[in-house]
Amino acid sequence: MLNVEGLKAGYGRSEVIQNLSLRVDAGEAVAVIGPNGAGKTTLLNALMGLNAQASGALTWNGRALGPGTAQRLRAGMALVPERRELFGGLSVIDNLRLGAYLRRHQARGALKADVDFVFGLFPVLRERQSQMAQTLSGGEQQMLAIGRALMSRPRLLLLDEPSTGLAPRITLQILQALDALRASQGLAVLLVEQNARLALRFSGRAYVLEMGDVVLDGPSSELARDPRVIDSYLGSG
Ligand code: ATP
Repeated sequence: MLNVEGLKAGYGRSEVIQNLSLRVDAGEAVAVIGPNGAGKTTLLNALMGLNAQASGALTWNGRALGPGTAQRLRAGMALVPERRELFGGLSVIDNLRLGAYLRRHQARGALKADVDFVFGLFPVLRERQSQMAQTLSGGEQQMLAIGRALMSRPRLLLLDEPSTGLAPRITLQILQALDALRASQGLAVLLVEQNARLALRFSGRAYVLEMGDVVLDGPSSELARDPRVIDSYLGSG
């Protein structure tokens, strides 16, 4: 579905991603693991059209994907940023509605159905729908950030470090909800994680990113047994 070749991205004179290729097929869960500063966030931002310096060949179902975030959203990609970037002073339901802004000309009924869909996925958000986003717990905020991204009806969800600041149990609950969506609706997920154990468990395929380069890739179950991955990312724990 998404195919990326020769991707470069960076800031000013520093080229963080040099020549990266990856692909995500429909309905796949793909992980990108790697150490701090490897360029994982830069990669997701470049894919989403948020890195001004990004270049490379991106195709979506075989068609060239133009630059800019609106194009990527229309194609069917949505990003859940690491810092969540919710509108803290707005209610839960308004944050969700904002996620559908590119579809503002659509019927109100469709918007309501999508909000209900998100509430079905994360029922706690329904209970908190009138609360300001800044009053939610960390896990609820992550659910809201994912819910807001889902409001654009993506086919591919880009997730940046969803485990940040959350108890493992909550992260797992969130990833399981997304896995159910993948299974039932074919939603593809590209998951960037420093928690390699979690990421390899959740994904079918993975890329190991080091200093802006893919150094290893393959089925997650194989990578989880690879001594290089075990030594660098899985430790003894
Ligand atoms: P982390 O897990 O710590 O977020 P990461 O793998 O996501 O790491 P990036 O955040 O993509 O890595 O950062 C890759 C490199 O790009 C780092 O050297 C970082 O200092 C640099 N970098 C990131 N954002 C910017 C920016 N806005 N301006 C300049 N340099 C940046």
